[in-house]
Amino acid sequence: MTESFRLKAKMFEQGINISNAAKQILNQKSDIWLMKDYITCSGLTLVFSDEYATVAMTPSSTIQLIEKNNSLFIVEPNKDPIKTEIIVPPNYMKDEIIIENKTITVYCNTYTDRLRLQLISGCMNTCKFCNAKEFKYEFNSISGLEKALKIGLSQSDVRHILISSGSAKVEDLPKLTEMYDYFGKKYSDLDLDLMMTPRGFTSYTNIEEYESYLKHLKEIGISGLSINMELNNSDCLQKYCPEKADIGQDRYLYFLDLAVKIFGKNKVRSLLIVGLEPLEETLKGVEKLAKIGCNPVLSPLFPYGEANFPPNAELFIKARELSEKICKKYDIELGPFCKPCSHNTL
Ligand code: SF4
Repeated sequence: MTESFRLKAKMFEQGINISNAAKQILNQKSDIWLMKDYITCSGLTLVFSDEYATVAMTPSSTIQLIEKNNSLFIVEPNKDPIKTEIIVPPNYMKDEIIIENKTITVYCNTYTDRLRLQLISGCMNTCKFCNAKEFKYEFNSISGLEKALKIGLSQSDVRHILISSGSAKVEDLPKLTEMYDYFGKKYSDLDLDLMMTPRGFTSYTNIEEYESYLKHLKEIGISGLSINMELNNSDCLQKYCPEKADIGQDRYLYFLDLAVKIFGKNKVRSLLIVGLEPLEETLKGVEKLAKIGCNPVLSPLFPYGEANFPPNAELFIKARELSEKICKKYDIELGPFCKPCSHNTL
């Protein structure tokens, strides 16, 4: 395990204490260097050695961000300072632009190298570690999304577009497909990733529809899929993601397996949360995903609501080390492949 990853894990645990001189430099770069966004994307984004990390500003942290000769350095007790750059969000993320009576970040957001296009605000699911439920469940209009997308693309040099949304009500599934069709066909020259739950044209649970639906997504120009299993243990899944538990792990794995066959290896990933269930459960999940050729993505738990366990750097490091060993057995890599997109993952 590299020293830079260890440092990243420690900052996920502790956050970083930012000196006043460092704050001055950050303020010169942007007045939105500290993002307040959805839970896994809030904080300051640092780039150091070969790592990207979005970390919380925590005055009690033993790790400091300091200024020296007009540059920024991360300082750990008894270690040499490490030079770091920061990534500031593009200007539109100041959220001063109004499109169809909504601020622009309701439609899209930029994080490092990816632009997230949010088709639905809020979510019909109630995952306990996620703050999507704080937002009203509402579709964004295609015209509003497109205006926001154009502004977002003009202000940031992104490598991928992540089409994401909260989970739709079953009766809204056809409407969501129409939106996938619109953006998939029109923007297929861009690298379009879709974050979704297993589903068909009209149902989450009818596995008969899965294959034809996945083929449809490929045909309209979607290049990769992110289908997040979140947890391996069925009791934990029931407790923390009841709607995903209703779909059930068997359907998730069946859908993921089909997705890999249709989209190809290294085009389908699935996220597991580290810190919400015992590590051996996470590792069982990693093995199930790796076995079918899906890239597991490890997400450190960002405490929230009922999922309020303290982040643990040692656990994050161990999870990464052991998951890499499992993946090696199946000749598969942990995702995401894009280093900047790993700013909030292990
Ligand atoms: S399905 Fe996704 S967006 Fe919806 S509550 Fe769960 S984690 Fe949040």
